[in-house]
Amino acid sequence: MQKVPSETLPIDRKARMKIPYLGLKLRDPKERICDFDDIVIPFTPEEAQREASRCIHCPDPAPCMQACPVHNDIPSAMWLIEQGRFLEAAALYRETSALPEICSRVCPHEALCQGGCVRSAHDGPVLTGRLETFVVDYERRVKGGHVEVPVGEPTGYSVAIVGAGPAGLACAERLRQYGHDVTVFDAKPAPGGLLVYGIPNFKLPKDVVFARIGDLERAGVKFVTNTKIGVDKTIDDLFNEGFDAIFIGVGANVDAPMKVEGVDLKGVYKATEYLIRANVDPKILPPEMREPIDVKGKKVVVVGGGDTASDCLRTSVRLGAAEVTCIYRRTEAEMPGGEKDRTWAREEGAKYMFLTQPVKFIGNEKGELTAIECVKMRLGEPDESGRRRPIPIEGSNFILEADVAVLAIGYWPDETIGKTTPGLKTHKWGLIVADPETGETTRPGVFAGGDAVTGPDLVVTAEDAGQKAAKGIHKYLMSLGEKKEKA
Ligand SMILES: Cc1cc2nc3c(=O)[nH]c(=O)nc-3n(C[C@H](O)[C@H](O)[C@H](O)COP(=O)(O)OP(=O)(O)OC[C@H]3O[C@@H](n4cnc5c(N)ncnc54)[C@H](O)[C@@H]3O)c2cc1C
Repeated sequence: MQKVPSETLPIDRKARMKIPYLGLKLRDPKERICDFDDIVIPFTPEEAQREASRCIHCPDPAPCMQACPVHNDIPSAMWLIEQGRFLEAAALYRETSALPEICSRVCPHEALCQGGCVRSAHDGPVLTGRLETFVVDYERRVKGGHVEVPVGEPTGYSVAIVGAGPAGLACAERLRQYGHDVTVFDAKPAPGGLLVYGIPNFKLPKDVVFARIGDLERAGVKFVTNTKIGVDKTIDDLFNEGFDAIFIGVGANVDAPMKVEGVDLKGVYKATEYLIRANVDPKILPPEMREPIDVKGKKVVVVGGGDTASDCLRTSVRLGAAEVTCIYRRTEAEMPGGEKDRTWAREEGAKYMFLTQPVKFIGNEKGELTAIECVKMRLGEPDESGRRRPIPIEGSNFILEADVAVLAIGYWPDETIGKTTPGLKTHKWGLIVADPETGETTRPGVFAGGDAVTGPDLVVTAEDAGQKAAKGIHKYLMSLGEKKEKA
């Protein structure tokens, strides 16, 4: 591909190199804490063209493409954007990604495509993530809000998908392209998985997710909500109902418990419930979660070091908390969450307290949280995860005032499906054993992928697993011999 000469970008090179996501235009922190809207200001067409023109089109395989779990053809997309050929760029992304409007917003780009960009060491990576957002949003706008999902010739085969998160949605999208009939079952009142019931709106606006789900519905994907497989019906029931294959994408979103005195006090929340009640329209919440969370003027302490902790901090600030503090038992260097989310949380007023561990939640006579007893930690030798082990410092206990505590200490899989499906092998607390390339499980006709197989990971890795499983399912269905009568 030939590179066209283009205007040179005015770049603060030093600043760009220091923080790899700098160069994104963000809303002022004072303004963005007043609502739950996206904090990134979208590119104008001219800005998009200029930013894309910074790509030097590395020879195949370009490092950005290799670093992208679904291997988007980023150099070609950059070339098309640079030429103003936005619709062609959007179509190119859709070839390799079923959910580009979502991944382009929530992927940790600095660790994936942008992390691989060779310009990183020079004047900062090309902002490939938000350029992808720009073209797919542009496409949706010019197409009147609806993006058509190509649908293959009907094969007569029908597939049940269990779990409407990114793994299930991506699998459904690709299976329709092959021409199979698809029905998606989900335990929650609405589809979307953690895209709806987890990731806050300021990172991923819900209308973006619902627009993509709408595309799938128009392509014939059927959604059955409020149905927990393994409880309301089993995998065997689905086969008996006539489904020819099943994909399990149930995620791993059971909040890890914290075994500390006082966790049952009023005001102590699990991260998912906290985020859901603050970020999701009550109309699509289970009845017991519809009451809004009130933290106005209160002191909120978030326990944990991942991105979920940053999401809870940033949500608390937006809910009007007076003080928002994160406590983490190791140092910032060991935190599993990304620097980007922490920087944005700090910009919005959150504070961090490292080498600190809660040992007791303290309540008043009404059973409401009033304080947290903490202990200071020091780092010892590395543990099996390679991170230095936190060790309590004897006698260092202190009291931290808190009206609300949010526990963001990780997620476990739900064992329900594993326990109710004969022949389905699981391991490590219920994760499903599946082939990473085809999604095949130990039960013939049953495929699995996403967090339910890997444990908590990323939206894009779940999407990748769903897409790969769709290929595996298609191959399996085609191997069943003569097709049934066409639908
Ligand atoms: C708060 C939070 C923030 C995150 N932020 C990011 C981010 O910014 N970027 C990123 O890349 N990743 C992020 N992640 C991780 C990402 O959301 C997950 O890795 C991804 O959603 C996993 O997709 P999945 O389809 O495997 O599962 P999920 O998204 O968990 O979807 C599983 C679905 O299955 C349904 N289900 C479960 N059991 C059953 C059953 N028995 N029957 C029927 N339905 C069932 C659930 O209701 C759910 O809808 C975040 C995670 C959390 C918790």
